[in-house]
Amino acid sequence: MSSDDALIEIVDVTKAFGAGERRFLALGGVNATIRKGEFFTLLGPSGCGKTTLLRLIAGFELPSSGEIRLDGQEIGHLPPFRRPVNTVFQNYALFPHMTVAQNIAFGLEMLGKPKAEIAATVERMLTLVKMTELAGRRTDQLSGGQQQRVALARALAPQPKLLLLDEPLSALDLKLRKEMQVELKRIQHETGITFIFVTHDQEEALTMSDRIAVMSRGQILQIGTPREIYAHPTNRFVADFIGETNFLRAAVKGGRAVLGPGVELPLAAGTADGEVTLAIRPEHIRLVPEGAAGALSATVGDATYFGTDSHVHLTLADGTGIVARQQTDPEGTQGPQAGAVLGVTFPPSAVQVLED
Ligand code: ATP
Repeated sequence: MSSDDALIEIVDVTKAFGAGERRFLALGGVNATIRKGEFFTLLGPSGCGKTTLLRLIAGFELPSSGEIRLDGQEIGHLPPFRRPVNTVFQNYALFPHMTVAQNIAFGLEMLGKPKAEIAATVERMLTLVKMTELAGRRTDQLSGGQQQRVALARALAPQPKLLLLDEPLSALDLKLRKEMQVELKRIQHETGITFIFVTHDQEEALTMSDRIAVMSRGQILQIGTPREIYAHPTNRFVADFIGETNFLRAAVKGGRAVLGPGVELPLAAGTADGEVTLAIRPEHIRLVPEGAAGALSATVGDATYFGTDSHVHLTLADGTGIVARQQTDPEGTQGPQAGAVLGVTFPPSAVQVLED
């Protein structure tokens, strides 16, 4: 049974390529539920299986096992044209000899829609992507950003329930890329269509998504809102892949993590004695005078000044290297100097206990 707001359910999906010794498991048992109207991002390094998962949802590949459901119905074995799903490819795949309007109309003509309806939809799509003035221009005479808009309009014209976008902004330069990020969000919001967006760029994922699935080696490691993923990564890969993180090993005794003499943090109830890895973001580390209550002693290595903040590299007594990000004060006071010995503290709420 699917919950009411679920559009896509991916259930225990695996995908292997090749056979025998050449067999390669590109997806090893993936589970995810994508909700209606959501901007959902698949984020992970090259080769982790993002495109493979997208191609399974589109129907360009069949799963080796598992189910893909749309509105509660199994679609994993339907051909692409039988699915209410469209894809925007990285290279746009426009028809170069056709005009912008003809490109947008193409899919609707294939579906045999009446002429008047096609004309009205093309108008609407042109307005949506702000391309009305270029409706009669051939698509090989457009800039990259304009081609991107046409590709979006063409994919949205048949009103799919789901739009898949495979690294659609990667061919654009940085400025245009930022502009199209804002545009994509606006268009998704205005149409209400569910987007599944693939990127390996963590900042792009954080700024654009309602929820993110972080992938590594054919697995989804964590699904959550950008804030959940950044503030509460559950494992080392996610903590490391998204933003900068310090990792600390600590002994666990009686439900508390012991970081050093007199420096203890409470852990979730039921944490067994042993050792844990803790993650803490550089911006949450506080520098205090050496010997302050609850502080670990640390030696300053070097500090890099960035204007809005400084990154201070420190070494703890046990040799662990950490980095602390310190906001610049309004007076522009000189920050910590190399060789200085300081205390560092970690607010307990900012410390994440990672799964090993
Ligand atoms: P990128 O960001 O580089 O596009 P990705 O996360 O999208 O990477 P996939 O393209 O899904 O990764 O590939 C996942 C793994 O599956 C890779 O190791 C890739 O080489 C392998 N793979 C993908 N398609 C095939 C195929 N048709 N035959 C064999 N192996 C494949």
